[in-house]
Amino acid sequence: MTDWRNVAQVTWGRETSDGAGVRLKRVIGQPELDYLDPFLMLDAFGSDAADDYIAGFPPHPHRGIETVTYMLAGRMRHEDDAGNAGILGPGGVQWMTAGRGIIHSEMPEQEEGEMRGFQLWVNLPAKDKMCPPRYQNIEPGAVPTVERADGATIKVIAGTIDGVAGPVRGIEAAPLYLDVTLPGRGVSDYPVPSGHNAFSYVFAGTAEIGAGETAPGKLIRDGELAVLGAGDAVRVRAGEDGARLILVAGQPLGEPVVKYGPFVMNTREQILQAIEDYQNGRFSAPPNE
Ligand code: FE
Repeated sequence: MTDWRNVAQVTWGRETSDGAGVRLKRVIGQPELDYLDPFLMLDAFGSDAADDYIAGFPPHPHRGIETVTYMLAGRMRHEDDAGNAGILGPGGVQWMTAGRGIIHSEMPEQEEGEMRGFQLWVNLPAKDKMCPPRYQNIEPGAVPTVERADGATIKVIAGTIDGVAGPVRGIEAAPLYLDVTLPGRGVSDYPVPSGHNAFSYVFAGTAEIGAGETAPGKLIRDGELAVLGAGDAVRVRAGEDGARLILVAGQPLGEPVVKYGPFVMNTREQILQAIEDYQNGRFSAPPNE
């Protein structure tokens, strides 16, 4: 019997700005939802006004986490201190495991038009926090699409749905990351590994999320995030005008978290070490070199 997940919490997040003045909405990593283990942060950015994004994210460090950028519209150039560089376009994904450290910039490649997407931060387990940095840059064409009989169109970024596996591999949190488009009144069910923490963020239309065989779900509007309760599947029923949402799940770490901006470690000492390494220019170099 299916153990349906219901909605445990709803948050709209808060408008803020980050980088050199990029306007965005922080949905995870704000007072109402500080941490959904292993997810430290979810930012939704979306504007067709260049002033809201053009300043970008000039060089900044990361340690102890993974940053996952999913572009819906617009183009972003990324470049790090090890010489890795590339452009992320619409439908593209970058799963970056910062590990012991990278210093990178994320700058809009375009000068006008719409820029839209998400950045998710995934915590690393203690044993991997100082691992060498790793990139998985996924071209839009490498993200498989599942067309379901129930009308749902599903882009599989990570994890597996209906036997189709996403291109992102070897991530400790065993993540599920789906981009789901539903037609008006479409009803669609998604297995979500039990034991994983999970959320859904609606970014077009409305959806009733978390219904069971008999129980109703909760209405989630465009711009709201639903934290899912325990269970092994979730049911989504789109509103009259359809819905588009991301459904994301990951295995919780259950480890202590000490955060200082873009450094996320397990102890205060490790944070002080990160700051020292950064200030002394020993941040990204391999250890003992
Ligand atoms: Fe970054």
